[in-house]
This record gives sequence, C-alpha cells and structure tokens, in this order.
Amino acid sequence: MSYLELDFKSREAITPRRRERRARTPLSFTRLLRGLTALATLVGGVYLSLSLLPDSEAKVEDSNLKQQRLHYSVLLPSRQIDPSTAVVEDLIPTEPSAPSSSNPWNTVQIKTGDTLASIFSGLGLSATTTYEVDNLNKQTKQLRKIRPGQNISVLMDDDKQLVSLKYMPDITQTLEVKRQEDGSLSSQLIHHPLEAIPVFRSGTINSSLFEAAADSGISENIIMELASIFGWDIDFALDIREGDQFSIVYNELYKDGDKIRDGRILAAEFINQGDTYRAVYYTDPKGDSGYFSPDGKSMRKAFLRSPVKFSRISSRFSNRRWHPILSKWRSHKGVDYAAPTGTPIRAAGDGKVNFTGTKGGYGKTVILQHGGKYTTLYAHMSRYARGMKKGKKIKQGQVIGYVGKTGLASGPHLHYEFRLNGVHRNPLTIKLPAAEPVNKAYKAHFEQETKSYLSMLELMQNQVVAQLNQ
Ligand SMILES: [Zn+2]
Repeated sequence: MSYLELDFKSREAITPRRRERRARTPLSFTRLLRGLTALATLVGGVYLSLSLLPDSEAKVEDSNLKQQRLHYSVLLPSRQIDPSTAVVEDLIPTEPSAPSSSNPWNTVQIKTGDTLASIFSGLGLSATTTYEVDNLNKQTKQLRKIRPGQNISVLMDDDKQLVSLKYMPDITQTLEVKRQEDGSLSSQLIHHPLEAIPVFRSGTINSSLFEAAADSGISENIIMELASIFGWDIDFALDIREGDQFSIVYNELYKDGDKIRDGRILAAEFINQGDTYRAVYYTDPKGDSGYFSPDGKSMRKAFLRSPVKFSRISSRFSNRRWHPILSKWRSHKGVDYAAPTGTPIRAAGDGKVNFTGTKGGYGKTVILQHGGKYTTLYAHMSRYARGMKKGKKIKQGQVIGYVGKTGLASGPHLHYEFRLNGVHRNPLTIKLPAAEPVNKAYKAHFEQETKSYLSMLELMQNQVVAQLNQ
C-alpha cells in the first residue's frame, strides 16, 4: 500500500463568501474523494497515468493564482511509490555553479557583435584554431550562429592550444569539441532529454476561447493544438458558446527544474453546447501515433474518394478543358460523376452544411465544411436531402442530395469539388488525411495506455460540476 499526494485546484476564483460556504458544506470534497477512491481502484490508475511517460515525475496541478488549492491523499492499492518522488511539489531551479578559481575552463558570455574568431582571439587562441574549429564539420557550423547571452567554455593547455570547447546551441543540446591524441579535433553533440511532467488544466468560456485559456494559464500553442484536435467536430470560429468547457492534460517539459516549453496534449475534453468530445493521444506498439476518441476512432476524419456510388467519372480535374455547353476552353476544378438522375449523393466526410442553394452554372449546390481546412462542393443536384440548412451537422456517407442536371449541365451528373484552405485540389489524387482507427490487434493496449488519462478527465469534470452546483 502506498500513498500518492494529489494536488488539485479549483478552476474558478473563490470569493470569501464561497469559501465560507464550502467550509460548512464540504460537498465537493466528498464527491471528489469518492471519485478519487473509484479512480484508485482502477488498477492504480493515478499512478499509471503519471508513469506513462519515461522519466516523468507525477505532477497534477493548476497554477492559476486565483484558484484555490485542494490537497488530497489517495490510497493506491498494491503499488510501491516513493512519496518523495511521486510528486514534485515545487520545482526549484538549480543555481548555476559559480566558477571556482581552480576551474581551468574559460567561460565567455557572448556579447553583441561577438564571433568565434573574436572570442578565440580574446582568449589568445590562434586564427588557425578558429579556422580549424569552424571548418571541422556540420556540428561546429553552429558556432557561426552564436547569440548574445550564450556561453562558450574553452579549455586550453599551457601553450594556449585548444584542448576542449563546450557550447549549448539551445537548452536541449551541448556541442563538445575535443582535441584528440593525434592532434586532430573531433566533435559531438550531446542531447539533454527534457523531463515531461503532465499537468491538468481546465477552463470555462465566458468571452473567447483564448481568454478562457489565458485565465487558466494555458499557452496559445496548447489552445491551438486543442482546436486542431477537435477541429473536425467543432468549428472554433462559429460553434463556441459561453459556458463551453474544456479540460486538457498535457506535458510541460523541464530541464534541471526549469520549464522549457509545453509538450504534447495527452488527453482533452471539450464540451460544446452540451455535447462532450474527448480525445486521447496514443502511440501503438508499431510507433504510429495520433489522437483518438475513447472508443479508438481517429479524431481526424477521412474523406470518401467518391461521393456517388456506382458511377463513372465523366470528366476529370484539369486546368483547361473544352466546355461543351459554353463552347469554350475552361479549367475544370472538379470531377464529374455521370449517374442517373436521382442517384443519392453522399457527404465525402464528416462536417456541416456551409451552403445550400442555387449557384449560377452550378445549379442546385451544397457546400460542406470539414474541420477548419477542407470544403467540398456538390453541384447540378436535382434536389437536396431533407433539412440541409446551413450549420446542420453531417456524417460521412450521409445522403445530402440527388444527382440531376440543374445549372449548366449537358446531362445528369455530379460535379464535385474539393478545396484545401480555399484552393481547388484534385479529389482523385490529393493525399487525404489518414484516419485509421486503432488497429483491432492493439485494442487492449490502447485501453490500458489511455484509461488513466480518461479517468483523470472524468474526475476533473466531476469536480467542475460539483463546484458549479454549489
Ligand atoms: Zn464538372
């Protein structure tokens, strides 16, 4: 038996009155503890979730200063955890070691205008040495890009010959140049792995997603990633409403106790107008990664190659073709599928209706929006399927209308266009986003790997709900 300290904080600003009430009625405490107990029984779910990443230490916290800190101890069954390493309470940045007088290394802080040559010459190293280091190999070319504030450390022998050089081009790597016994130089680039620490943050939208994220201490990068993960299901420009909620588990990357940057989103939940969307990041044993819904479907939605079954392509995508009705050369920015009038036309992908109506030579037309980047257009319809109003959500394969010859069409066919970022692309040849579900063979692995993060989302959601109910 062992304990794991969990350090949760509430998401909203707590007024003194609220705090009083909480003290009298510790409802959320009870609920959260109940939730935690359930979680602990999930085969050490909490521990698992925090140990999924190699070299990561457990840290679950929300650092918004406005937030109240709740502290719980969770009993984990049959897991040995050293409490001193299970949780990093505060990460204290390590002080750089002061140079000692006996240190034979010369460390130079780079100033504006410095070059390797000027630094070497300042240290008494010859121009030949500068040339030798500069031309050693691709790694040492990095010394041409030194920036003010960085350090170069140089070790010399009594004859002012370069013995060794150390330089950190960035916080994740060190370049080392060394004099070999035969007098030649060699170099190596040492990579310093960053420590990934999962953090949990959540927010409720009052005005904008970005403001809600900022209030919760979430960076713009993470929120952009969140929007791209859910971009196939939610239109972040139009669908977002006041009261929408989101919860994100993501890595923060540390080196020697200093946060370097945000890492990957591991799991996320978005409640949009009452609909809950969840995604988890998963890497299968073959090394393929992606975001999946809890039931293993890809968050990215693929497209059907052809929106009309049992049809033949009567005209391909081209930049120039003879238009039989207009009797002139025109580009054909789509593909035509010849099919009898009334043949059902299916949505190429999940999305929503962007336009339904008559559009000049296109005749009766439907345009669908798929995620943030893709639109598809279906023209010359004889009629629309029922309820094709702008904004209506459409599933892939759903019938959106029927083949016809409205507009400029010589015979019944579907004119189909595919646009990526507003630019026409050939739907027959464009590389479509892969959207394979989790391989059936890996289903158990997927569940094992992701359940702790999903439990964590659930737990946090319960806590948010409990607070809102107070
Ligand atoms: Zn056409």
